Amino acid sequence: MAPVCGSAPLCEMELQAFAPADNHCYTVRMKHVVVIGGGISGLTAAYRLHKAGARVTLLEASDHFGGVIGSVRHDDCLLETGPDCWASNKPAAMELANELGLGDQIIGTREGVRRSFILHHGALKRLPEGFFLISPMSIKALIKTPILSWPGKFRMALELLKGVRRNEQDESLASFVRRRFGREALDRIAQPMIAGIYTADPEKLSLKATFPAFIEMERKHGSVIKALRRRAKGEGGKSPSGGEVAKAAGPRYGLFVTFKGGMSVLPDALKAGLPAESIRPNTRVNALKRQGNGWQIGLDGETLSADAVVLALPAQGSANLLRETDADLADALAAIEYAGAAVVNFVFERAQVAHAMDGIGAVIPAVEKRRIIAFSFSSVKFEGRAPEGKAVIRVFMGGALNPEVADLSSDEQTRVALEELRELVGVKGEPLFSIAGAHPGAMAQYHVGHLERVAKIRELAAAHASLAIIGNGFDGVGIPDCIRNANEAATKLMA
Ligand SMILES: Cc1cc2nc3c(=O)[nH]c(=O)nc-3n(C[C@H](O)[C@H](O)[C@H](O)COP(=O)(O)OP(=O)(O)OC[C@H]3O[C@@H](n4cnc5c(N)ncnc54)[C@H](O)[C@@H]3O)c2cc1C
Repeated sequence: MAPVCGSAPLCEMELQAFAPADNHCYTVRMKHVVVIGGGISGLTAAYRLHKAGARVTLLEASDHFGGVIGSVRHDDCLLETGPDCWASNKPAAMELANELGLGDQIIGTREGVRRSFILHHGALKRLPEGFFLISPMSIKALIKTPILSWPGKFRMALELLKGVRRNEQDESLASFVRRRFGREALDRIAQPMIAGIYTADPEKLSLKATFPAFIEMERKHGSVIKALRRRAKGEGGKSPSGGEVAKAAGPRYGLFVTFKGGMSVLPDALKAGLPAESIRPNTRVNALKRQGNGWQIGLDGETLSADAVVLALPAQGSANLLRETDADLADALAAIEYAGAAVVNFVFERAQVAHAMDGIGAVIPAVEKRRIIAFSFSSVKFEGRAPEGKAVIRVFMGGALNPEVADLSSDEQTRVALEELRELVGVKGEPLFSIAGAHPGAMAQYHVGHLERVAKIRELAAAHASLAIIGNGFDGVGIPDCIRNANEAATKLMA
């Protein structure tokens, strides 16, 4: 039966839907949702909303979609100016990649080189085997590690006998590690391991918001070492950051995955999944106002109307836009602090690098007083990053403990990173190519009390049913967390 449709012209927000039940066409008004911010959070939300039937407009201030994610090709080399991988144990990113048909392009870290280094009194030492982030999984692993003094090892072993803290109050990661494992374990193991993930000051980092499972291990087993030992023996359970730790030993390099073509494959595919007319680069949002149940979005010389808005920005950016509408919500958002970070990639002839490059990279404890947080031997870590005979090294710098480095110009960051590499891995001569990616104010800092701050934001935001606030400032900084957050926001808005 052919649909019977009226001939009245449809406005751009309307479409006609045929209802077979009564052989009639109805005019359906599509929800217009404006998504502000074209990083992975905004792209995912826009894609989900489009799939759910909304008319979407995605506004991005720069000419680049993907936010901090950026893969650059130079000759035969592939360089990442932002993140270089994600953790596959949190399913949202894997699910999205598979849904977009990218599953066969996902690769893990190269086998055979799944080890990394830590700087210890100026020399790169192998990261201890048998450790799980901040804790040894056995006394044997503790005894064998070359990066702790004997008094430091003894103090760490005393963790087995330490009393349990029953206080429900949030605690900093530094306080927890010092209390259970001692000062040396904090300086030499916990701080550098955590800095590579959160770029944070461990004295301020909330344990409840980042590694709640360590609290549970302490409470349930009386000791983190005991809990990890049990789990390694096969009792299983959740890791401090959400994945399985059963049988895990040392950093689980196999968890970290990327795309053959680089991290930008994901934002590029999301963008390609949106109608071309819904994507607006070089469009900065300057103002946001309530308009009945919907919103007015102020751009340079133009105002848009929307039924709903998704703010997919660093929390400070969302705070600025919401200040006029809801000062309390803006204040709550502004309370989430951010730190800047930078990534400098270098291409060298392999012969220019004296180090054996027999691992995926290194972390640098703050007590070593260097100007970088970590570096990766990218051409070793993942296949397809450089041809035979070339080496790609990616240096990570800035963060809460090195704010002055994040504020340097790109040229200065490149100079500093190169000086560090000369001393740490024996680089000779000038790089064949280098590129710096600066990310000012991009890394959310989950300070003590973070969960309460986020709960307050959620409570205040509930007054605006047509508003979703997402990004890395709330429920996890990793790419899978941002994707999960965006999925949930899109579902809620469409409901
Ligand atoms: C250097 C670095 C390395 C990282 N490494 C990893 C890693 O290896 N693995 C991992 O899982 N995570 C990593 N992360 C964390 C993760 O990449 C980020 O948390 C995540 O990509 C943030 O995405 P987002 O969309 O929320 O924000 P962003 O990527 O910051 O995107 C926000 C977007 O909003 C735009 N914008 C801002 N203001 C406006 C405005 N007024 N109007 C319109 N648009 C605006 C910006 O231009 C930007 O494109 C890393 C982060 C950094 C900075």
